[in-house]
Amino acid sequence: MELIFEKSKPGRCAVTVPQSDVPEVTLHEAIGNKYLRTELDLPEVAEIDLIRHYTNLSRRNFGVDLGFYPLGSCTMKYNPKANENAAALPGFTGLHPYADDDAAQGNLQLLDEMQRYLCNIFGMAAFTLQPAAGAHGELTGVMMIKKYFEKKGEKRRRIIIPDAAHGTNPASSALCGFEVVTLRSNPDGGVDINHLRSLMTRDVAALMLTNPNTLGFFERNIEEVARIIHAQGGLLYGDGANSNAFLGIARPGDIGFDVIQLNLHKTFSTPHGGGGPGSGPVGVSKALVDFLPIPRIVHTGKGFQWSGDFPDTIGRVRTFYGNFNVIVKAYTYIRSLGAHGLRHATEMAVLNANYVKEKLKPHFDLPYDRVCMHECVFSGSRQVAENGVHTTDIAKRLIDFGYHPPTIYFPLIVPEAIMIEPTETESRETLDAFCEAMIIIAGEAKANPQKLKDAPLTTPVCRLDEVLAARKPDVCWKRA
Ligand SMILES: *Cc1c(COP(=O)(O)O)cnc(C)c1O
Repeated sequence: MELIFEKSKPGRCAVTVPQSDVPEVTLHEAIGNKYLRTELDLPEVAEIDLIRHYTNLSRRNFGVDLGFYPLGSCTMKYNPKANENAAALPGFTGLHPYADDDAAQGNLQLLDEMQRYLCNIFGMAAFTLQPAAGAHGELTGVMMIKKYFEKKGEKRRRIIIPDAAHGTNPASSALCGFEVVTLRSNPDGGVDINHLRSLMTRDVAALMLTNPNTLGFFERNIEEVARIIHAQGGLLYGDGANSNAFLGIARPGDIGFDVIQLNLHKTFSTPHGGGGPGSGPVGVSKALVDFLPIPRIVHTGKGFQWSGDFPDTIGRVRTFYGNFNVIVKAYTYIRSLGAHGLRHATEMAVLNANYVKEKLKPHFDLPYDRVCMHECVFSGSRQVAENGVHTTDIAKRLIDFGYHPPTIYFPLIVPEAIMIEPTETESRETLDAFCEAMIIIAGEAKANPQKLKDAPLTTPVCRLDEVLAARKPDVCWKRA
């Protein structure tokens, strides 16, 4: 495809600028020669060429509105357009971030209600909506944990993290100055309880646990895990990025979690990845409320107000209201589904993942064969051993069938991992067609392994050298 610069023809223009109704000022007068760019090499194209260029570019992209997107742990569910309509209301988009509290009552009320809904759904004492994404929420949560122990006068240097965890967990802990200790998984895909007992000392601030974990399993011994941590005065942190596995069924606060971060952009259906910004609210138990970021919303005789009057706070972690429009979309999702709808979404997410797991089980290795929650993890080990075909080749071949590949090579404890999260928004026909494609690919691995190694075969560019692309990205274009 030609670049827009290559399509440029001098003198073409896609807009007609209206007659000026103010006195003209030359650029030299306005900004002075020092700052004036003399060579501004902008593309010149007609409106139709401009429209075609960007429309064609967008068609080279893949999104959940185009096809099935089973990227495990990322929860690429369909994002209802009602959410977008609500977020686009002028009262939300037009409010100045510095507007007085008096002028922002409706928006503050929405934030306040959202915090209450989340407290209710997750069983926590309070929530902050400030963090801009999941990893940012983790950082906020760990900062609060750190402050909690400082306030108690306890020096705790370590955080325990299971070997199946998302890479952001150790990163967030290390950023706060904690030493990360790795906890082994048991053969069942859960926490190795004896290993946990041996690691848990009064030097450990917290266990950071993803539940269900990245293998898609709900921790069978979660109450025992909470007891072991709390018995030594430690805190239980929950990575709640993938909460659509238990909405309306289990509440982390009831189970014993002291802190939990959510990903509104996964669980509560707002576009993410290349499609939009995130939001990573953090919920805390009573013991940690004082450390929440400021400002917090308080309700006074004069209505809702921002207040910074919390002496033990960790401070601000993001400007203004957080990613407000993401919060509006997630709020709309919660309101439109209601309590029963959220529970139903969870049930369908779990059913869909188990459906895919059972259909593909005869064709791919399933290292942990038990009922899963929102996602299932296969291994491509059989295909490597029998046909020399790797998981990466299977993923690339799926593109030819019109699917976004699943998450691969994560979690790290599964060799050649293929992590599939269908989400609740997909029909049985879609799941059947996807499984059929996977089964065809398993057959091709035996019959024609080279085809998989060359895949994708139907895209504008075929197999790329990913290492070269990452190490020496060629993103500059110079006019010939
Ligand atoms: C996505 C994810 C994160 C990180 O969330 P971001 O919004 O990408 O920062 C953390 N933990 C788990 C389990 C996740 O799936």
